[in-house]
Amino acid sequence: FPVDRIRNFCIIAHIDHGKSTLADRLLEMTGAIVKTQKNKQVLDKLQVERERGITVKAQTASLIYSHQGQQYLLNLIDTPGHVDFSYEVSRSISACQGVLLIVDANQGIQAQTVANFYLAFEAQLAIIPVINKIDLKNADPERVASQIEKVFDIPCNECIRISAKLGTNVEAVLQAVVDRIPPPVASIDDPFKALVFDSNFDHYRGVVANIAVFGGRVRKGDRIVSAYLGKSYEVNELGILRPDEHPTQKLFAGQVGYMVTGMKDVKEAQIGDTLYLKEQPVETLPGFKPAKAMVFAGMFPTDQSDYPGLRSAIERLTLNDSSVTVQRDSSMALGAGWRLGFLGLLHMEVFNQRLEQEYNASVIVTAPTVPYKAVLSSPRLIKNRRGIQKNMVYIDDKRVMMKYLFPLNEIVVDFYDLLKSLSSGYASFDYENAGYQAADLIKMNILLNGQPVEELITIVHRGRAYSAGKAMCERLQDSIPRQMFEIAVQASIGSKVIARETIKAYRKNVLAKCYGGDITRKMKLLKKQAEGKKKMRLIGNVEVPKDAFINVLKRK
Ligand code: GDP
Ligand code: MG
Repeated sequence: FPVDRIRNFCIIAHIDHGKSTLADRLLEMTGAIVKTQKNKQVLDKLQVERERGITVKAQTASLIYSHQGQQYLLNLIDTPGHVDFSYEVSRSISACQGVLLIVDANQGIQAQTVANFYLAFEAQLAIIPVINKIDLKNADPERVASQIEKVFDIPCNECIRISAKLGTNVEAVLQAVVDRIPPPVASIDDPFKALVFDSNFDHYRGVVANIAVFGGRVRKGDRIVSAYLGKSYEVNELGILRPDEHPTQKLFAGQVGYMVTGMKDVKEAQIGDTLYLKEQPVETLPGFKPAKAMVFAGMFPTDQSDYPGLRSAIERLTLNDSSVTVQRDSSMALGAGWRLGFLGLLHMEVFNQRLEQEYNASVIVTAPTVPYKAVLSSPRLIKNRRGIQKNMVYIDDKRVMMKYLFPLNEIVVDFYDLLKSLSSGYASFDYENAGYQAADLIKMNILLNGQPVEELITIVHRGRAYSAGKAMCERLQDSIPRQMFEIAVQASIGSKVIARETIKAYRKNVLAKCYGGDITRKMKLLKKQAEGKKKMRLIGNVEVPKDAFINVLKRK
């Protein structure tokens, strides 16, 4: 494909506005996948994505589209919508010249619509507004088009109105990609130069890098250099993603594809790295700003003998999600482990779930904490959260955009869920870092039968200590099953106990049920109990289920 017949674009939108569904239709219409009733978010490949119905990883697919007698190569990158994954969006944007900005015809512009628009706008990409779900009974595409004009200064008539679900007018989207998005500025005559914009770890082949070729060409067998470490590698395999890997002999300027170089150590694979041919050094590409971790938590193997296994699992997964920061950590109670930084609580939960599902790891996650920085975005809820209003803009007569300064700690855990439920799902939310500010903070301990629980030490605002302590004790009471003895759950500041709940003793014997019953049933029950115990952690003489730690931190 000559460069002028290549288009690189990504689909950006607020969560649930239909990015992955539109991607399915584009894949079907270009023959990349067979059209069946069953194609639902085919680019959401991870188990965690399927279970939660959200995209967490950007995915790439090369499509071949015939338009007015010409064939075009369209490289599509589907991106996540949730605020915690906007880092994936910025990386995808750096490999593209244009975006499809999807807006739900019923919901209109939402917080991540605005945030994602600015990412694309600042990167000077061509922006094609697409109004989706026009099939819905309450769809009001005209109103959404005028919101788009008002907020983004894009004329109403540039909006394409579609139903991704039914396939209505999706052809117009493909045409617009060809007509409105410029081809990449890349010459085949330049020396080879490629940006590593994502990578995965494959158990057999090692690092599989997703690359965007900015100049020249690369062949199988070529010797390439990673600018980051200066090390050279042989190209063992390369190809395009349709969306499954299709090996090819070469990759050319303007193309997006994958490359395997036998790189085995994940530390060598750096997202944002520039690759070039050994004999033709080039100036390196600007790469990416490192992501700013917002939420920190300790991660420890359930069993210390799993430490090496967990270490390699974390290394491999962070390769695929470079926004996670990792530091070694150790705890008296939990042994050797790590302190990981995440972009938000959902990000942390997803990471944890991926470790367990994709790497079979068994981990204990400690209470998330924040590095005390301030943040943005509604009224009673906001007052309770120590928010300060910064500004307010009416998008139209039904929607208002408000900016607030918040302590990060107040919004990181459950603010989003609460905002959604208080506004019956109408409000949406996005945040960015606004720097550190002085605050009156104290350290609060949680005790189980007098034994402090190191992983539940929290920093709280002084005015909040009593309610926070009470809430934590109540949640812990709900999360710890009854045991053979009474358990006192207390919150303290220094030596002063500020809250207490009691877990009554458990009298029933699990085996009582099968008195006189057969032995195999008894064994089964005991085995089940033992398996349950694996997921427990002993604090003093109290058994605490692993997930109690995370349950405790969700304020209700
Ligand atoms: P994403 O989070 O932006 O990737 O959104 P998805 O593609 O996962 O879609 C979110 C939900 O909206 C799914 O239940 C889709 O079936 C639904 N959806 C997507 N497009 C349309 C559409 O055009 N019409 C209707 N009625 N529903 C749609
Ligand atoms: Mg999606």
